[in-house]
Formats: sequence, structure tokens, C-alpha cells
Amino acid sequence: MRLVEMEIARQDWKGMLCGCGGSAEHVGRDLLQLAGRGPRQEPSHVSLEEHVWSPPVLWEPAPAVTSVALAALADDVAPTARAWFLDLLAHMVAGEGTDWESARRGLDLPELCRDVAGQGLWLLYGEVMSNRSLGAGGIAFEILTVVEPDRARLQRVREIAADWLPVCCRTGLCDDELRDLDR
Ligand SMILES: [Zn+2]
Ligand SMILES: [Zn+2]
Repeated sequence: MRLVEMEIARQDWKGMLCGCGGSAEHVGRDLLQLAGRGPRQEPSHVSLEEHVWSPPVLWEPAPAVTSVALAALADDVAPTARAWFLDLLAHMVAGEGTDWESARRGLDLPELCRDVAGQGLWLLYGEVMSNRSLGAGGIAFEILTVVEPDRARLQRVREIAADWLPVCCRTGLCDDELRDLDR
């Protein structure tokens, strides 16, 4: 068992309410499939929109999904799967609202997701600096603009990675956008 499977297995998906109205049990299976560790043993895409998020709202499984996405980045999943998990993470940190049932229990899902994602700071910096793929580096940087409290460090990395970051990240256009969401 690798990191991503361990993190998926550790979560109580069954006990969470999914955005589709049922239990989130299927979300655990969907994440395994994304990682390429499901029955097919190769990554295949499955959308978690309307299950884990429906813009701008996040659903109960969102913090667990954020955690699994970080575990996937720390694992050696295929490049396509890596990109999907980064994408998922970007959706999790961009959330603005909490589903009604979780809010009633006093949960602030966007804040919880950003806290979890913040624990993966160095994984995200690693992704930016690796220059493995333009898209992935850009998404990782955009997540950092939301979760990195040390803006001076973010700025240093922006300068160091300027040669390969997309224009929006280099110029700060996209972090302004995300900071708006943050407010
Ligand atoms: Zn669902
Ligand atoms: Zn950007």
C-alpha cells in the first residue's frame, strides 16, 4: 500500500454527506481510480464536481479530499494523475462557502481546506520548482498564492521560477484573483 491509498483508506467516507445527497463512500473509490490504484490499475478521470464542490460551495468530504490530494503529490502517481490532483486541490482552496448541513455543525470548509493545503507548502513549492510541466507548475503556484502566509517567500520563488511560470503567475495577475476569493 502506498501513501495515497493509505490516506484514502484512513478517511471515514461512508460517514460523510456527499454533494450528490448520498454517502461519500463512492468518493474514496473515485479517488483511487484517479490515482490509478483502482481495479483498472491505471489513472482514469472522474469528476468530483457536484460531489465535493459545486461552485462556490464545498461539501463535507472536501477537507479529506484535500488531504488525499497532498498524499498523491507526495506519492509517485502518474503525471496525468498528478495534474488531476493538483486541479482538485485548486478547487478545494478556491471554495467560498460551506454546505448547509456542515455549516449548521459549525464547520467552515474553505478554511479547513486551506489549513490542510497549507501543510503541503513544500510539496507545492517542489512542484513549482521541478518544472515538470508548465500547467502543473502554474496550478501549484496559484494554490500557493492562497495558502502561503509568507508573501516574501512566495515572491522570491516567483522570481526564481519566472522563466517557466505562466504569465499570469509571473505577473501576479492570478494571485490577485485568488485573493479576491479569499476575502
Ligand atoms: Zn456523491
Ligand atoms: Zn497563474
